[in-house]
Amino acid sequence: KAKKHLGQHFLTDETIAQDIANALTGNGYDDVLEIGPGMGVLTKYLLPKKAKVTVMELDRESVAYLHETFPLEHIKLDTSKEHFEIIEGDFLKNQIQEIFNKKQVAIIGNFPYNISTQIVFKAIENREYVPEFAGMFQKEVAMRIAEKEGSKVYGILSVLTQAFFDVEYLFTVPPTVFNPPPKVDSGVIRLVRKKDYSLPVDEKLFFRVVKTAFNQRRKMLRSSLKSFNISDTLKEDPIFAKRPEQLSVSEFISLTQKLAENDVRNH
Ligand code: SAM
Repeated sequence: KAKKHLGQHFLTDETIAQDIANALTGNGYDDVLEIGPGMGVLTKYLLPKKAKVTVMELDRESVAYLHETFPLEHIKLDTSKEHFEIIEGDFLKNQIQEIFNKKQVAIIGNFPYNISTQIVFKAIENREYVPEFAGMFQKEVAMRIAEKEGSKVYGILSVLTQAFFDVEYLFTVPPTVFNPPPKVDSGVIRLVRKKDYSLPVDEKLFFRVVKTAFNQRRKMLRSSLKSFNISDTLKEDPIFAKRPEQLSVSEFISLTQKLAENDVRNH
């Protein structure tokens, strides 16, 4: 009775559940948010850890199950000692900084695949509060986040994530350990926020450059980035003869820098 529209594929392998829970380093935060706990297979391996665990689940039935099943000793009434909290809600519609009072919170989950890229983008947007992010994705999405320039799957998600986080692909999980089994392999990755995660360029411009370039992935930058009114001198720069998948994250940053200077001169 898994709900397809909620992306429900429940993990049935305890060792893998434990390995995913252990993907978090435990450094730099006192709170962990698990997205989509379902029946709590990961949750039970998160609870013994030091950080307070909050789970957010959209499915009312799963929430009821969690309330019934999880040992009451984890739900202390004294809020200062509270170690476990269940929130019924949609991760995409809730404000992380409100729930956690602007504290640092690590995010983890076996994510619903239909919204997994939106979850990553939300973590990137909230990077100020998210020092770490680990979880299971469709393998292809996990690779898109982790791969470097030159890879076929390198794209917007890779550049925007890697600009702020160090990404590590941890392991692949076969469909057979889920109920019901998904059609594809899954991959577990870990993102650890960089020490210095502010960019030396205007972030909005950076996002716009990356998205515009990859919207026409096959084209050279001098044609895909036409709308940025690149001056004739700047057009001579060899970077504009490249295609977006050839640019590293730092090259995207210096490209943004060049376009910002170009824009100043044009005005
Ligand atoms: N963690 C469980 C496991 O590993 O067996 C369940 C994983 S299942 C792939 C994804 C879970 O996310 C489901 O329990 C689903 O109900 C929940 N979910 C789907 N959309 C959600 C959303 N927008 N916010 C929070 N949870 C959501």
